[in-house]
This record gives sequence, C-alpha cells and structure tokens, in this order.
Amino acid sequence: MTSAVPLDLRSDTVTRPTAAMREAMMSAPLGDDVLGDEPTVQRLEERVAKLLGKEAALFTPSGTMANQLAIRCHCEAGDEVIAHGESHIIHYETAAPAAIAGCMVRPVSGPRGLFDADAVHAAVRHADIHSPQSRLVVVENTHNRGGGSVWPLEQFKQVADAARHHGLAVHVDGARLWNACTAAGYSAAAFVAASDTVSVCFSKGLGAPVGSALAGPRALIKRARRFRKMLGGGMRQSGLLAAAAIYALDHHVERLRDDHAAARALAAALARVSGVTVDPAPDAVETNMVFFTIAPRLGDASAFCERLAAEGVHLIAMGPSRVRAVLHLDAGSDAPARAAAAVERAVRAH
Ligand SMILES: *Cc1c(COP(=O)(O)O)cnc(C)c1O
Repeated sequence: MTSAVPLDLRSDTVTRPTAAMREAMMSAPLGDDVLGDEPTVQRLEERVAKLLGKEAALFTPSGTMANQLAIRCHCEAGDEVIAHGESHIIHYETAAPAAIAGCMVRPVSGPRGLFDADAVHAAVRHADIHSPQSRLVVVENTHNRGGGSVWPLEQFKQVADAARHHGLAVHVDGARLWNACTAAGYSAAAFVAASDTVSVCFSKGLGAPVGSALAGPRALIKRARRFRKMLGGGMRQSGLLAAAAIYALDHHVERLRDDHAAARALAAALARVSGVTVDPAPDAVETNMVFFTIAPRLGDASAFCERLAAEGVHLIAMGPSRVRAVLHLDAGSDAPARAAAAVERAVRAH
C-alpha cells in the first residue's frame, strides 16, 4: 500500500518553509543589500558572526558559494587545499577550487570522513620550486559521505594545530554544523574557535528555503563580499531569505535532536530487513543520516531507489550499492516506520 503523500528523505534540503517561517519572511524589513542597506541581512550576518565567534559574516545563496569564497580568499592560483578525499568540496562543488581559485585539492584519508594531525603533517608539501604551495586545510562537520559523522573537538583542535604549525589556514565546511553540535554537545563557537573561517547552511536541517553564510575575520569577509559580487551572488531584497534563516536559528536548532532520534530508529528498523546491511550503533548513526548497503541480488542502488520511489519513499543512491536516507523537519514522526516498510517491500518484490 502506498501512502498518498510521498516521503522524501533524499536530503534535508527538501523541506518547505513552514507557515510561521513564511510569515517571518513576509514581515521582514527590506532594503538593497548590494547598496549596503538591507536591515534583515545585516541582522542575520551580525547574529551569525556572534554565534560562531567570528568578527564578521556574509550571507550567500549557497553553501557551495560560501566554501568557494573561503577557498578563493585563503588561496592564490597554484596553491593546494588539504581535505578528506570524500569531502563535499571534492565531490559536489563542480571542481570549483580549480575553476575559481586555481587550486588543487590534495585528498587525505581516514575513517568516516575524519582525519588526524599526522595526515596533515604528511600531506603538507615541502617548500620546493616543483611543488604546489600548501595553503589551507578544510574540515567538514558533520561529514556527509562519512555518514553524517561528527568531529570530536579534540581531534579537530589537533588538526588545526598541525595546520598552523605549517602556516596553513583552516576552514570548516559546517553545512550541518548544528547537527554536529547537537550530537557532540559542544557549541558552534567552541568548535570553530580553532578555524579561520566557517561556512554554515540554513537550507539543510534548519529548514530555510535558501541560504548559507561564511564567517571569519573582518578583512577576509570584506574580500569575500567583493568575490561574491564577482560571481553574481550580490542579492538585493535578500532580507526575505535572511528572515527565514533568522527564524530557523530561533526555532529549528533544538529540534535537530528529533531528526537524530528518527535516524537511529530508521537504522534499527532497517537492520531487521534481510538483504540490507546497516550499522545501527550510535557511533555509526550519529546525526540525521542513515547509510545502508543492499545485497548484490537486489541490483544497483539507483534502480533500487527507483523501486522505492514507486512505493512513495524517496531515498538517494550514494554509490553502486550504497543508499542514503536523511531525516528532517518535514519527514513526519512516522518516517522511520514508513521508510523501513517501503525498503522491506522493495526487497521482497525483487
Ligand atoms: C549541502 C552541503 C554544502 C553546500 O551545498 P549547497 O547545495 O551549495 O548549499 C556544503 N558542504 C556540505 C557538506 C553539504 O552537505
């Protein structure tokens, strides 16, 4: 039996603004941000800078732009960025470090999208006329392809210390930083204290329709504002969107723990389905994502997801046999049960 309303767990980006969020958007005072008088955007930027313990922040249309502005500001053409091989900036940002900043990314490895100080020491290039110039370390928290995994604060501090030891800057891709904070119990400011810059997304688990921010030193953010304009990211009455982000910060951070609980419930239910392999342990399902693999007899993950979609449940293939489900604000309290039941039917029907 297929429920009338589809259950979309492809990503936490699919949420629609709530009625109260729309109201906040419609009543926000507006100006022209390119001309420098958008009161709601300014309010958001000040709030985000304060929340993250940085001097300044810049509202951007996407997390990709926030990350790429950071890379462009930290690096020059011919520089090298050190990041985990499974990171978003390598897999999902259209080679922008090469295209926009003229940089290479040197991938390092480690379990669940994390790495340690030794990996940084080993990846830094020695000064040599032949070599790229190591310039920046990027850490992703939570780590998407790593399973929605959370960086322990101490491990990140050691990585940041290693970066500083070599004179490198540190950027945190914090698209889901508040998920990490919720799971680990540290504050956003405490985590990013060891970084120069940080990007955050309002359009993921926080449920805003559009928008991210880059935070960091005032002079860097001033340059980033110029590069944002260069890339066509200067927006006008963007207070409409900033109002949604402010609303999300006020009302949708605490509830992230519900998504994490729902993810654990889904993993536990999926663990009982034969043909599905998932680790339901709390250190495997740390935040709002569940990754599972399907047995070879069930075919390719994307075809499996098509069969699931016919059941009214939308998940996403993240590899030949790997499937991802992301819990979020719009999923509904029966999402774990519905998703697990649909997976079971898709397995049995094959
Ligand atoms: C979603 C995401 C981003 C930014 O993506 P946009 O779609 O450009 O907003 C950056 N990093 C990670 C880890 C993400 O999951």
